[in-house]
Amino acid sequence: MLGGMQDFKLRVMHMLDHAANEHGDREIVTYWADGSETRTNWAGISRDARRLAKALTDMGLKKGDRVATLGMNHSRHLVSWYGAIGMGGVIHTINPRLFEDQLVYIANHAEDQVLLYDAAFQPIIDKLKDQWTSIKHYICYDPPEGSDAQGFEDLLDRYDDDFAWVDGDEREPCMLCYTSGTTGNPKGVLYEHRSTTIHAMAEIQPAIFDLSTTSVALPVVPMFHAAAWGLPFAGALAGLKFVYAAVNDPAVLTMLMNREKVTHSAGVPTVWLAMFQHMDASGEAPEYLKVVTIGGSAAPRAMIERIMKMGARVNHAWGMTETSPIGTMGSPSPDWGDLSFDEQVDVVVKQGRVPFGVELRVVDDEGVLQPRDGESSGRLQIRGPWVIKRYFKAEEDALTKDGWFDTGDVAVIHPDGVMQITDRAKDVIKSGGEWISSVDLENAAVGMEGVAEAAAIGMPHPKWDERPLLLIVKNEGAEVSKGDVITHLTDHVAKWWLPDEVLFVDDLPHTATGKLLKTELRERYKDFSFSGG
Ligand code: AMP
Repeated sequence: MLGGMQDFKLRVMHMLDHAANEHGDREIVTYWADGSETRTNWAGISRDARRLAKALTDMGLKKGDRVATLGMNHSRHLVSWYGAIGMGGVIHTINPRLFEDQLVYIANHAEDQVLLYDAAFQPIIDKLKDQWTSIKHYICYDPPEGSDAQGFEDLLDRYDDDFAWVDGDEREPCMLCYTSGTTGNPKGVLYEHRSTTIHAMAEIQPAIFDLSTTSVALPVVPMFHAAAWGLPFAGALAGLKFVYAAVNDPAVLTMLMNREKVTHSAGVPTVWLAMFQHMDASGEAPEYLKVVTIGGSAAPRAMIERIMKMGARVNHAWGMTETSPIGTMGSPSPDWGDLSFDEQVDVVVKQGRVPFGVELRVVDDEGVLQPRDGESSGRLQIRGPWVIKRYFKAEEDALTKDGWFDTGDVAVIHPDGVMQITDRAKDVIKSGGEWISSVDLENAAVGMEGVAEAAAIGMPHPKWDERPLLLIVKNEGAEVSKGDVITHLTDHVAKWWLPDEVLFVDDLPHTATGKLLKTELRERYKDFSFSGG
């Protein structure tokens, strides 16, 4: 027997319809690369998305076809997401910071038909055009004067908005994002209308992003990384105001945050390092922020403290491209009001709890379930309706025999359900049969005055199997010695975790999404030996 309710499909375009119908005049502000600004609203985004959908259909695109973008955060990029999905297509956001051979690989693997791009990325197009085998149409968001590129606005001007969103099954795909893996080719994660809608509904909850129509959000997380953490969808559902900056200049971000009274922001930790430098130099600070979400890498304690002292709540997000990407959120605990400042920070440095919809477990290397005791660490596995089952075009599911996705992260789960990442499985430092968390060592090191960035890697050791080597980038002009670092770390980590060597370096290698590239570091230091120095 079935129940008696309606067949209302969980399709992405319902979210935009909701925004346009119920919050149509809520603004979408864009600060462009050339310093100009535009304002539209959800009704305008919906109109333009219909015009783009019509244009794409006219180009011969069919249901399921992939429409790629190489763009920063702006209203035309937002229109492209909904226009491509509205015509029945799949929006494929490409990360322009990927290496060239990866850019070639993913556009060809995705069989992208159209590429919409920022003029700033024209050199990438000119260089790789001949190697992209499937792209037939190139459309530039902001063609400079005199350019012969097809302009986005010129294209839209040729179409009216008389277009009905293409309908279909809620399990059809709507978006494709590739992981920026540190080894091998990037892998595509194909989100569905259903998974995307449920994920957005979960995201706006108070314990997650805490979004509603009163929110003014400036997402710094790029639209080309992990579906911009789902915010373009969650924002429509919430009917909030978006403020987009197509440039990542902290002075511009601060100006926009204050002028537009931005209440919510989201980005990786490095965004805030740059913001702090600007704040220190200029004396300015964002004044209206209520919720700052940090994720993508572990949020350092000192960063959380500083933002909390600015009067904002810090949300510490853990997730992956494979999980749409929200997995957990480190946000206020039930006893929040009774906690001291330091105890509140203790809560937020952990990656937090799952929203309803996803489930977590920790297993050891043999797959044995570990207790939620805050001590038993092991492989973190996840399942739920917005978690990957199979990579795009893969032959097999990416799941354990009993249906969980192994994240490759190492974590503990505390008795209250709070999850804490201790490392990436391949980055833990195995010393004398015990594990040292490279993440904890790095976080402790960046908490020290004068340290800009730190990376800990395990290096072969004749007696202990591996021992930590700590690489440090100093702040400009800072005086920090190896002895200072060890003294500082002694207060923060167990004695046997202390690095056997500390080296000062000019920079550290990163992936296209700003994570430390440990594979390259291990390669760089492969000839290093503790005894030889
Ligand atoms: P990506 O798919 O590029 O977003 O990368 C996902 C990976 O980033 C996760 O598997 C984690 O290793 C790491 N990550 C994301 N958020 C956090 C966090 N809050 N703390 C520690 N690691 C994180």
